[in-house]
Amino acid sequence: MALNPVISKLANKLVVLASASPRRQDILRNAGLKFEVVPSWFKETLDKGLFKAPHEYAVETAKQKALEVARRMPLKHLKTPDMVIGADTIVTVDGMILEKPVDKHDAYRMLSSLSGKEHSVYTGVAIILCHDKENEEVDYQLMDFFEETKVKFADLSESMLWEYINSGEPMDKAGGYGIQALGGMLVESVHGDFLNVVGFPLNRFCKQLDLIYNQSTSSSERESPSVISSHSSAAKHSPSSSKHTHHHHRKSPSASPLHKVKRTGSDAGGGESPLKTVNSSSNHADVSDCTLPLTTSRGRPSEQEEKEDLKKIMDLMDGFKASKALFTASKLGVFDLLQRKPGLDAEQVAQEVKASVKGTVCLLEACVSLGLLQSEEQNSQKPVYENTDLSSRFLLSDAPLSLHGYIQHCDRTVWPLFSHLESAVKEGSSQHDKAFGKKSKDMFQDTVYYNQEVKLRFMNAMHSIARVTGRDVATAFDLSSFKTACDLGGCTGAMAYEFTKAHPELSVTVFDLPAVVEMKEHFPPPHRDDRVTFVGGDFFEDELPKADLYILARILHDWPDERVDVLLKRISDACRPGGGILLSEILLDEDRGGPSRGLLQALSMSVGKQRSTTEYSLLLKSHGFRTTQVRHTGNLLDALLSIKE
Ligand code: SAM
Repeated sequence: MALNPVISKLANKLVVLASASPRRQDILRNAGLKFEVVPSWFKETLDKGLFKAPHEYAVETAKQKALEVARRMPLKHLKTPDMVIGADTIVTVDGMILEKPVDKHDAYRMLSSLSGKEHSVYTGVAIILCHDKENEEVDYQLMDFFEETKVKFADLSESMLWEYINSGEPMDKAGGYGIQALGGMLVESVHGDFLNVVGFPLNRFCKQLDLIYNQSTSSSERESPSVISSHSSAAKHSPSSSKHTHHHHRKSPSASPLHKVKRTGSDAGGGESPLKTVNSSSNHADVSDCTLPLTTSRGRPSEQEEKEDLKKIMDLMDGFKASKALFTASKLGVFDLLQRKPGLDAEQVAQEVKASVKGTVCLLEACVSLGLLQSEEQNSQKPVYENTDLSSRFLLSDAPLSLHGYIQHCDRTVWPLFSHLESAVKEGSSQHDKAFGKKSKDMFQDTVYYNQEVKLRFMNAMHSIARVTGRDVATAFDLSSFKTACDLGGCTGAMAYEFTKAHPELSVTVFDLPAVVEMKEHFPPPHRDDRVTFVGGDFFEDELPKADLYILARILHDWPDERVDVLLKRISDACRPGGGILLSEILLDEDRGGPSRGLLQALSMSVGKQRSTTEYSLLLKSHGFRTTQVRHTGNLLDALLSIKE
């Protein structure tokens, strides 16, 4: 649901957030905006001394971030976004700009300079509207604004400062604190937009969209400066505006030199700086020619729309190639290698991963085009490669949010199943036997067909998804009235540890098949926590541990309604009135319009089924559980809380 009517206007547009900040993503997702995340490669290295006021620096950085993505996507992703959003948050105190601390001492320096004082938090935001034109040209229309919020810190003692720094929280945050988490304890007062301090001025952004989409109906109106850009601050600056349009010629990806960052003298510092172009008066004069049409035409698609549709289809057709390139790079250990040794060239990578040079060059270039690696060419030498922020966070085998285990599962299990999709659809059943030459028996109850390696691979896959989604599921509801929980089918306990971390009063029993519990030692807990315990058993056969709350994370979709009924009846018998079930699944839209992840997963034709909120709620209701809250987390899994009446 989008509370702001303007957000819903973006529903069918490709909106891209050029920022890896999870906080910005959360803010926009919670507002109902659907968008892709393409973190900008723009390095935040602008010379602060060149700007008259700190907010100008934040706005300029936001613009550069957004422009880098807007220019890269048509070349590398072969699609032109409709809108790219860039943002940069800085903290200023005593005339100094504070960005993210580089180490603990830098964090100490920043936080002690904020102690007992009022400081300003500025977020610069750039919105770029992109428009494919004829002749491989892309037009960009650029709007920007900034928001200022004043924050007053309490007097911070040395011990408080170091305790906060040692929590690790300051390290990826402007000014060295996060107001939405532990850092909130340092703050005495806030004057202005709170979300601006978190990282994104949502209210001002929605107003800006409103100006673009609701009040800009004719090109003459679009010319109005108030439509285009404004800024605001807690200090009530007078509004100013900026709107810029410029062209960028798209070249075919293979011929493009732009997919490489060149560090040769003349290019350094951005000889191609789009801002030079957009700020020139000649480009201002171009505005009326280049303004993006803000409504979609009906009836026969325009040539432009036809091209976009064609691209959509081609992206779908190429999707499997992209998946397999990711799986292969992951399996060969390319991301781990480049993390240990950034800056290797293709020959060196080939040698390390024991692959051909020709194949490695192709794989590395494909990964660059997918935004998984970045390449740099120094003075016409061979390109060297390093991980992008995206791959460092999700693709390393030892990253806290690693998807490595799930990638292996997709490659080794899901891929073979989907290569028999046509038979699966024709027969309406799983093609497990065709894909693996054996019947799809329960992996953990069967010691003949499935060896330890296969079981561990499955547990690894569950573990990685639980780790990336666990916090959002665990914090989806206020669970303070529950003291004990039982995570049925809780596998490695990854989800359970997130629950005890988020709820200091809660103890969780992980209940899973004995063979799974036996292998839990392969998955060391993220932290020591005696409130998580494990019990082996079969939830269809054995007595369920008593608990106030039963967690069912990714369990019910594995089973048909009859089996779900058996399980829910057993839980209902074990649960007291006022106790609950917390369900975590992909919740399908009621009209089956999405999300496509759930609908595509259903194609594996397992015995289970994906369901909507209403379908789950009805199943729960028939066993005496009333669904009281549903939470779309914006993460891979949603959550639903039902209470026993
Ligand atoms: N809840 C975990 C999560 O979200 O990461 C794991 C979900 S995984 C899809 C399903 C889990 O249910 C597996 O760990 C599996 O071993 C467990 N399971 C399947 N059948 C079971 C049974 N009859 N009794 C207990 N656990 C079972």
